[in-house]
Amino acid sequence: MEKVYGLIGFPVEHSLSPLMHNDAFVRLGIPARYHLFSVEPEQVGAAIAGVRALGIAGVNVTIPHKPAVIPFLDEVDEQARRIGAVNTIVNDNGRLVGYNTDGPGYVKALEEEMDVSLDDRRILVIGAGGGARGIYFSLLSTAAERIDIANRTVEKAERLVREGDARRSAYFSLAEAEKRLAEYDIIINTTSVGMHPHVEAQPLSLERLRPGGIVSDIIYNPMETKWLNEAKARGARVQNGVGMLVYQGALAFEKWTGQWPDVNRMKQLVIEALRR
Ligand code: NAP
Repeated sequence: MEKVYGLIGFPVEHSLSPLMHNDAFVRLGIPARYHLFSVEPEQVGAAIAGVRALGIAGVNVTIPHKPAVIPFLDEVDEQARRIGAVNTIVNDNGRLVGYNTDGPGYVKALEEEMDVSLDDRRILVIGAGGGARGIYFSLLSTAAERIDIANRTVEKAERLVREGDARRSAYFSLAEAEKRLAEYDIIINTTSVGMHPHVEAQPLSLERLRPGGIVSDIIYNPMETKWLNEAKARGARVQNGVGMLVYQGALAFEKWTGQWPDVNRMKQLVIEALRR
């Protein structure tokens, strides 16, 4: 029987996940289909009960339900619990297990796309929202030397560092981070600044950027933000948000099927869709 997978969120209409997963199911000869399920916030518990009752094999979870699903699951992986958000649920013979593949997906995309080892690197994360949490805790699992956080609301960066590892991390205002930019090998924007339709906005000034470093932006709409373009012009190697989107999906796919999909093919499909 064909297995059912899907995405629950609100809204979900513009998701590119069905494109990636359905193509991978076909290419790997897996009889399964990925669907979109628009779930209103007050229906999250009922939706998870539905996953259980209908024997849906696995779901992704997106905004705003990533923290909300946690109480309804049988088990939550330690890292997802630390992040406080689940984006992937595996239905293991009726037992619903929650994971977070966003942060690990980001880190894997960074290492593979930029062909870089994070060992002993000095990393700056800009932003302290939902995207930043997953990325920060996943970076803490690497051998990076420093993972500092800068955010408009400094208290949120401070909280994240307190939850994470205050020995390896400091927190700054955006203005302070601008002054210290030359200290970092890798600078990551996890804020929504520069996202469509406000494409002229930039999260912080790159004036003190050291040439030769890596500048990464998790925004994928537009695919190349103005900030990334400026970083490239200043001699940085740059990475956009498509990699994170694809690798979080690939890691979820692997948890569901035990198979690693063709990430380059997934990336190509996502890029084509974003161009349209
Ligand atoms: P979020 O939880 O709402 O966090 C937003 C972050 O942006 C906060 O740090 C916030 O700072 C900062 N921010 C917002 N407006 C700002 C402004 N005008 N000036 C300075 N800082 C500002 O959002 P999120 O879920 O983390 O998503 C952030 C971005 O990441 C979005 O563009 C989203 O599309 C993208 N994203 C991409 C992927 C991917 O797969 N590539 C995955 C997840 C998210 P304050 O704390 O001060 O409000």
